[in-house]
Amino acid sequence: MQQFKNYIFDLDATLYQDNGEFEANYEILVDKFFMTRLNMSEAEAQEERNKIISKFISGTEGIRPQFGISVKEFMDYTCAADVSHLSQNLWLEEQLRCLSGRLFIFTDSTVGHVQDTLSRIGVNQDIFAKIFDAEQAGYNFKYQKETFECFFKKCQVVPQESVMFEDSLRNLKMAKSFGITTILISQENVEEDFIDYQFSDINKALGAILE
Ligand SMILES: [Mg+2]
Repeated sequence: MQQFKNYIFDLDATLYQDNGEFEANYEILVDKFFMTRLNMSEAEAQEERNKIISKFISGTEGIRPQFGISVKEFMDYTCAADVSHLSQNLWLEEQLRCLSGRLFIFTDSTVGHVQDTLSRIGVNQDIFAKIFDAEQAGYNFKYQKETFECFFKKCQVVPQESVMFEDSLRNLKMAKSFGITTILISQENVEEDFIDYQFSDINKALGAILE
């Protein structure tokens, strides 16, 4: 595979394999936030959580302040997932260091969660030129056009000189529309015209670039 100037990595379920723990953890934290911070009942908390999830699935607007609380407070709390079940990836940092371009993390989550996760899987965050998180995207969702445009501008990234590693199909679809080379990280075989390459895990994807 060719070399690129910019290597853009999603975090969750891309830099490590996820068996649904991340989403389950997130739902627990959202409910806990509404119950402890806003004194909601369990049923009310679940209702608010479902509204947020349906917004993420179908909406175009990102997360906005509600109930007099800031989005930052909400996101910092709900993205602080326990990552202690993740194991160290012995080859990942070495592979990342062999790439000759700039490396970025581009995530819907928070810098705090990125730092916790990288530290757990054994990757030094200094490898990355920038960690672009939800706060920097103005809490718009990653799959939105505006979020990508904001990423390109703030990180000085030219899409046609870049490759993106992702587990989310809609994020890859948006990436491809800008001319980014797309790599799907997935255990399932997916055939879509916006996917350039597919690998079952991040080590195999990086191995193909470095060989
Ligand atoms: Mg992901």
